[in-house]
Amino acid sequence: MFEHLKKSDEAVYDIIEREHRRQEENLEMIASENFASFSVLEAASSFFTNKYAEGYPGKRYYGGCLHCDEIETLALVRCKKIFGAEHANVQPLSGTSANMAVYFAVLEQGDRILSMDLAHGGHLSHGHPLSFSGRFYEIIPARNNLQTGLIDYDEMEKLAMKHKPKLIICGASAYPRIIDFKRYRAIADKAGSYLMADIAHIAGLVAAGEHPSPFPFCDFVTTTTHKTLRGPRGGVIMSKKEHAAIIDRQVFPGIQGGPHMHIMAAKAAAFGEALKPEFRLYQRQIVLNSKALAEGLLKNNFTLVTGGTDNHMVLVDMRNKNMTGKLAQNILEEAGITANKNSIPGDPEKPFVTSGIRLGTPAVTTRGMKEPEMLRIAGFINRAVEAGDDKKTLEAIRNEVKAMTSDFPIYKNE
Ligand code: PLP
Repeated sequence: MFEHLKKSDEAVYDIIEREHRRQEENLEMIASENFASFSVLEAASSFFTNKYAEGYPGKRYYGGCLHCDEIETLALVRCKKIFGAEHANVQPLSGTSANMAVYFAVLEQGDRILSMDLAHGGHLSHGHPLSFSGRFYEIIPARNNLQTGLIDYDEMEKLAMKHKPKLIICGASAYPRIIDFKRYRAIADKAGSYLMADIAHIAGLVAAGEHPSPFPFCDFVTTTTHKTLRGPRGGVIMSKKEHAAIIDRQVFPGIQGGPHMHIMAAKAAAFGEALKPEFRLYQRQIVLNSKALAEGLLKNNFTLVTGGTDNHMVLVDMRNKNMTGKLAQNILEEAGITANKNSIPGDPEKPFVTSGIRLGTPAVTTRGMKEPEMLRIAGFINRAVEAGDDKKTLEAIRNEVKAMTSDFPIYKNE
């Protein structure tokens, strides 16, 4: 692979190869990451890279769009089938731009959004002060129950009735439990709000029936395609049919120009994979692995936010290990385990330090790892945290990780 690049630009080729090796040799535990199939990678690097296709199938602003229409239509049909959506727009370049297009479609500057506080699991694009979302709109942050770490639906309802937000967002970047979309709908109806679910993290689980669907409860559903869904980096908006026109207009020409047609091809390929029976088994295994990882960590006296998990991620409170999230991330990296520091509800530390780490199982499950490997990983994590700055022990763990990952190659036979 990459034989042309190798000949024409060794500098770029070498960096790509080093990144490939890093992915193969480490345990990827970042909950928002995954390894797309080789077919998806091929589609993403296809000849569609070269094509402009502003507009939508049958209504393009450029000539030569026959095959762009075919590939976008295929992606749309498959996407709607996976999620049971009435309408889909598969052009958003990212999860953030999908969210932006929804806000632009239904909100005016200064309107209120009720969303999960970022320190309690929300995403930057749900209202961080430095994000367009926090700058253009008035954000009402909802906090989880500090004792249980669970979404506090009663509190959410109180906030909704007090502030009457125009939009309520359900969905999170760091929440390990099932989200009750039906309850959110009841709150939105009472407050007269639009309801948007951002299922970026759990889209694969939703597609496979491992997490309840946001349909028919939500007016808008956004997602990324590169997390549990295992596609290329990108976004999607789904909605009720009645909102189709305002969504499409806001994606193009509202906030984007030409769609990335090579990524569209890769989205179509990934959606094709998501429709296969193996995908359901894969998503099932992600959840089983996450539960096994939680069990292994609990056995090693780790504290888990909410006490466990229902989905693909585990959120660890590192305070009883006398360690910040930042330090834990660095130590794990030295041991060959890639994870990220994460704020936890009521976190006394700053967002760049944090008291938690977030661990996810989508990527290791893609490699074919199962429950016994998850228990081993929990053991590695425990030993690494206990080792602290003992470089020798971290190196020993790193070597064990390398041996383990070599038994589960990502891109075998390719
Ligand atoms: N929404 C949620 C819930 C996310 O977790 C993320 C990314 O992690 C996004 C949106 C943003 O996606 P992107 O990085 O593609 O903009």
